Order: sequence, then structure tokens, then C-alpha cells
Amino acid sequence: MPNTPWTSPTSFSDQRIRAAAVYCSDGRFGEHFDDLCQNHLALPRYDRLAIPGGAACLAGHPETQHEEHAAHDELRFLAEVHAIERVVLIAHQGCAFYTHRLKVDTDDLRARQLDDLARAAKHVQQLDPALRVDAYFAAINAGKINFEPIDL
Ligand SMILES: [Zn+2]
Repeated sequence: MPNTPWTSPTSFSDQRIRAAAVYCSDGRFGEHFDDLCQNHLALPRYDRLAIPGGAACLAGHPETQHEEHAAHDELRFLAEVHAIERVVLIAHQGCAFYTHRLKVDTDDLRARQLDDLARAAKHVQQLDPALRVDAYFAAINAGKINFEPIDL
């Protein structure tokens, strides 16, 4: 019954966790990104900035100027209004934003994504040097997702 009122069984808390994650909007990874942030990193109710390519849009690509401008403004809003203190950047294996929009060869994909995570982290810290930034690469392994922490 798609057009009937419905109440979520999940309780609501108005307490902010003061953290945000930036990741690709690819829904195949959505639950895994939640799992990493909510369970592994203990960041329930984290703010989400889900955009195609994730941190690619904060890495200074000329092809993504409009997206970069929007993502920058959105993060600044979260920093000012939601008082975020921490940002988690997540890239994922086989990201179609890279192969289709940025025309990155699949052989170069992972290296480009890691490079972009580092560039995006610098971008975020320019917003506010006090922000803690962590980065992960989500790799598919035997039907599961491994999250590798990335040195920035
Ligand atoms: Zn993607």
C-alpha cells in the first residue's frame, strides 16, 4: 500500500552526533556505508552527503565544478548549523561515476579514487581545519564489503 500513512518502527532521537559522511549515492552500497558509520565507527544518526562519485566532487576535477560548488556549500552548512566535528569520506570499488563521467580507465580507478580521497580531505579541512577527516575504500570481497582505512 504505497499511498497509505506509515509509521517507522525506528525511534527518533533529536541528538546530533556531529559527524557527516560523504559517499557515492550507489544504493548497492548504502547499507554497508551505514554499517561502517553506525556500527564500526559508532556514529549513529550521522549526516549523509550522498552524491554520485562521493568525494570525487570535492577533489577539484574541472568536469565536476558545479557538483563541487554544491558539495562545498552543503558541507559548510553542516559545519555551521549541525556543528559537525568529523567527516568520513568513502570511495567504493567499481564506481561508475569515475568510469562514465570522469572517463577513468578501470586499471587506474582505485589509484585515482585514493588520490581523490586525499584531495577531498584537504578540501574539507580548508572549510574548517579543526574537522577530523577519515577516509575508507569499500572493496567487494566474496559477496561482502571490506572497508580499508586510507592514510591521508
Ligand atoms: Zn559510485
